Amino acid sequence: MSIRFFNTYSRALEEFQPRASASRKIDMYTCGPTVYSRAHIGNFRAYVFEDLLQRHLELRDYKVRRVMNVTDVDDKTIRGARAAKIPLAEFTAPFKQAFFEDIETLRIKRANEFPAATDRRYVDKMIAMIGTLVSRGLAYQADDKSVYYRINKFPGYGKLAHFDLTQLQSTGRVKNDEYDKEHVGDFALWKAWDEEDGDVKWDSPWGPGRPGWHIECSAMATAILGDQIDIHCGGVDNIFPHHEAEIAQTEGVTGKQFVRYWLHCAHLLVDGQKMSKSLGNFYTLPDLLERGYTGREIRYSLMRVHYRAPLNFTWEGMEEARQALARIDDWLERLHETVADKIDPPKADKIDLQPGARFEEALDDDLNISAALGFLFESIRETNRALDRNELGAAAANAWLQWWERIESVLVIQPEVASLPAAIAALAEARMQARLAKDWRKSDELRDELSARGWEARDTKDGQKVTRRAGA
Ligand code: AMP
Ligand code: ZN
Repeated sequence: MSIRFFNTYSRALEEFQPRASASRKIDMYTCGPTVYSRAHIGNFRAYVFEDLLQRHLELRDYKVRRVMNVTDVDDKTIRGARAAKIPLAEFTAPFKQAFFEDIETLRIKRANEFPAATDRRYVDKMIAMIGTLVSRGLAYQADDKSVYYRINKFPGYGKLAHFDLTQLQSTGRVKNDEYDKEHVGDFALWKAWDEEDGDVKWDSPWGPGRPGWHIECSAMATAILGDQIDIHCGGVDNIFPHHEAEIAQTEGVTGKQFVRYWLHCAHLLVDGQKMSKSLGNFYTLPDLLERGYTGREIRYSLMRVHYRAPLNFTWEGMEEARQALARIDDWLERLHETVADKIDPPKADKIDLQPGARFEEALDDDLNISAALGFLFESIRETNRALDRNELGAAAANAWLQWWERIESVLVIQPEVASLPAAIAALAEARMQARLAKDWRKSDELRDELSARGWEARDTKDGQKVTRRAGA
C-alpha cells in the first residue's frame, strides 16, 4: 500500500513520492528550537510528531536524512543575553543543552545534523543568498539599511498559506519598526545593526547586521540537504510567514521547487489556547518529570492524537497515557509468560487471532496514529480475552511479540532499562562492570545467563541495552 500525506501546499492528501524513489533516500528538514528559554511541551508535540514521521518512514524502509536547525540568534535571544548581561553564545548554551536532554528523555531520534544559525559557514551562505536575491530585484536595501524581500516580485508568494497578496494592501509607509519597507508584507532578510544588538553583528555588503529568522532556515536547509528536499515540517504557526518566506527565498535563489511535501502539526492547547511562552500557559519537560511522569508517558501523551488535530493538554490526559502504557506492559508480560511457559492449549488452533498489517497501514494513511493505536488496543483486548479462555498458545503469543517489536520501533514506549526486574537489572549491571573491566569471558557468561532467563543484552554505541528476547 502506498503512503499518503496531507500536503499543506495543495491542501490535499497526496501519494508520497519522494525524489529518489529507487534508492529510497529522503531528505527532511524540521524547524528546530529558538534557544532563548527551555522549550515547552507544545514545542515537543511538533518534535514528537516529526519523530513519529521519521520512524514510520524508516519502518517502511526509507532512509531518512534529517536536519533540525537551532536558532541561536534572533530578537529574543539577543534580548535575553542583554538582560542577563552575558555574551549571546553564553546565554544560549544552557538552553541548547537542555533541548538535547529533553529530546533524549522523549526518545526523539537525533537528527543527522543540528546546524546553528550563528555558525560562520551558514552566515556566509545567508549573505550569499541575500546577495543573489538583491541582484535579481527580489530584495532591496531600505533607508534603515536593512534588506527586505520584495514579496510582490515573487509570483508564488502566498501559495503555501493560501493567502491572497491583494489582501496585504500596503497602506503607504508604515510607521514604527517597519517604516522603510515598500510593502507591509515585505520581510527582513538582513537586519541592520543597532545599539540594542550590542556586539552581535556580522559584516555584510549592506553593512554590519544579522540575518532574519527566515533566511536562516533557507540557508541551513540548502547548505546541508541541497536545493530540493522531500519533506519540511513544523507546527501550523510556522506556515505563515516563516515557511512562506522560506519558499520565496530559496526558490528565488535556485529557481527550483524547494519542498515536495509540507507537513504541519496542529497545536498543543491549554484550555483551548495554544500553549506558548507568551501566554504563560506552558509546561516544560522538567515540570512534568517533577510531577512523577516519565519520559515515555509524556512521549505517548503527545503522540497519541493525529497530528493534524489539536490536542488539549490536561492532567487527566497524562493519567490516561499512564494507564495505556500500563496496559501495554501487562499485555507484553503476559505474552512473554505464555511463550516462556510453552503453553499450548488444546483450543489454541481454534481461533484465528494473528497480528495483521492494520497498524502500519493506518500510519501509511497520513500518519493516522489514533487509528493505529485503536487497532493496538483492540488487539490487546482480544488477545487478553483469548488468553483468559486458554485459547491462545505460545506460537500465537510469539507472533504477537514479533509484531510488537516492529511497531515498537515506531512508538518507542517500552519501559526503560531501569525498570527491569531486580534480578535482571543486577545481572545487567554485573555485565556492564565486567565489560568495563574488560573481562570478556565473564561478560559473555552473564549474557548467556540473561539469555537463559529470556533477556537479550546488546552493546550499542549508547551502552548496553537489555530487552526481552523476542520469542523468549
Ligand atoms: P519556536 O521555538 O516557537 O520557533 O517553535 C518551535 C517549534 O514548535 C515550531 O515548529 C512550532 O510550530 C512548534 N510549536 C510551538 N508551540 C507549539 C504548540 N503549542 N503546539 C505544537 N507545536 C508548537
Ligand atoms: Zn525554520
